[in-house]
Amino acid sequence: MASIFSKIAAGEIPSYKIAENDRYYAFLDINPVAEGHTLVIPKREEDYIFDLDDDEYAGLQLFAKRVAEAIKKAMPCKRVGVAVMGLEVPHAHIHLIPINKESDMNFFGDKLSPSPERMKEIAGKIAEQM
Ligand code: 5GP
Repeated sequence: MASIFSKIAAGEIPSYKIAENDRYYAFLDINPVAEGHTLVIPKREEDYIFDLDDDEYAGLQLFAKRVAEAIKKAMPCKRVGVAVMGLEVPHAHIHLIPINKESDMNFFGDKLSPSPERMKEIAGKIAEQM
């Protein structure tokens, strides 16, 4: 069965899309730890990121770099933090999170619940910078 992220990449489940190309897809995390929290995935389903072959892995990181640059321009932050956690959804993904201090990368505290309108606005602002 296709993962939820495969369905998102295929457009079968809606998402707040940031960018895509033929191999990769970026969209807002539905339960962000900070506004602008973005997930970057390979469209091809693979559970563990380090099981991607070198070419697909390198392409994913380069795509994530471009997305991070757009997040940095669109969202007020000092840096964009990067994390691979990956135990909840069995489809490789990179978290990109705008941060002003290290503790902003907190996956274990309360998540934000921006309104759909706000999520759409954030996705639009980041997508505009791509
Ligand atoms: P991880 O697997 O890295 O621990 O976490 C998976 C991440 O995916 C979580 O931050 C969670 O909020 C996000 N997530 C899970 N399901 C969905 C979904 O259906 N849509 C979106 N946009 N994000 C999701």
